[in-house]
Amino acid sequence: MINRNISLNKGTYKQPNIFGYYGNFGGAYIPEMLHRNVEELREKYINIMYEESFQKEFHALLKDYVGRPSPLYFATRLSAHYNTKIYLKREDLNHTGAHKINNAIGQVLLAQRLGKKRIIAETGAGQHGVATATVCALKGIECVVYMGVKDIERQAPNVARMKMLGATVVPARSGSQTLKDATNEAIRDWINNPTDTHYVIGSVVGPHPYPDMVARFQSVISEEMRGQLKEQTGNEMPSKIIACVGGGSNAAGAFYHFLEDLNVELIAVEAAGLGVKSGHSAATTQLGKPGVLHGSKSLVMQTDDGQVIEPHSISAGLDYPGIGPLHAHLFESGRANF
Ligand SMILES: *Cc1c(COP(=O)(O)O)cnc(C)c1O
Repeated sequence: MINRNISLNKGTYKQPNIFGYYGNFGGAYIPEMLHRNVEELREKYINIMYEESFQKEFHALLKDYVGRPSPLYFATRLSAHYNTKIYLKREDLNHTGAHKINNAIGQVLLAQRLGKKRIIAETGAGQHGVATATVCALKGIECVVYMGVKDIERQAPNVARMKMLGATVVPARSGSQTLKDATNEAIRDWINNPTDTHYVIGSVVGPHPYPDMVARFQSVISEEMRGQLKEQTGNEMPSKIIACVGGGSNAAGAFYHFLEDLNVELIAVEAAGLGVKSGHSAATTQLGKPGVLHGSKSLVMQTDDGQVIEPHSISAGLDYPGIGPLHAHLFESGRANF
């Protein structure tokens, strides 16, 4: 079912071209110092991911450690209220409470096969940090999580969890002291530790091959949805799929195996904050312009001279000033409604 080939042309919805572009977005805009790390990953990720031993260990952990498949729940009263049929894909029932663990397991297994001894990660609300710290504890690998000072204050329970799991939480004190600054600090760490460290990015963002790699790890969500819909309704095709977008990893996972089924309407929901035009919003497709953020070209909330605008949402994890390049392409091409 999964196509291992990277296309040579403009890329499809499902996979970027060899340079990591989905349409006009993607690529790998990285400092020279990171070139070797990213290039090593780009050369090896597909082959490692689809090795039989990798697939076996990945799926065994998804089943017995994460608790997959996550249920597809028919929400009867919500459905009656809207006079339709609404199913909830319960990623919140995964171990550690979100979809983040799917990607964290995939990347840590990959890092081990690359011979890496140390894991770093960025986190905003703390979910990705907790997931990564959990998988590192499972595997007995050193884990360092970068987190903005403001987020450390706002998300104290997740900070305590990461520390309990043996991770080191490093406060990011620069800029707005939130997610984008934690990401900058993590990138800086990787530059300083290029040989023994793997950087586990938490969403479908970052330089190629991260967006494609993370989308593939999260694609288990839509793979299960097809089977569960078929079992419960006799039809594996939903009319619509709705998912929220921070960086876009749960949405990418939920859309993935339906991207080429053009009868399935894809709806991505961004955080409006206090309102799209309020100056306190995280609706990147509505407010963003093409630009480079954290290693790829995408839509970015920025001023006319290219300074990143602080996003706002009370929703933990949705206050990111960019979106993954796949989503920028889905938006620009009209394949998904934002
Ligand atoms: C991290 C997170 C998000 C936002 O990240 P995506 O990459 O867009 O999925 C949304 N919801 C939850 C529960 C999260 O943990």
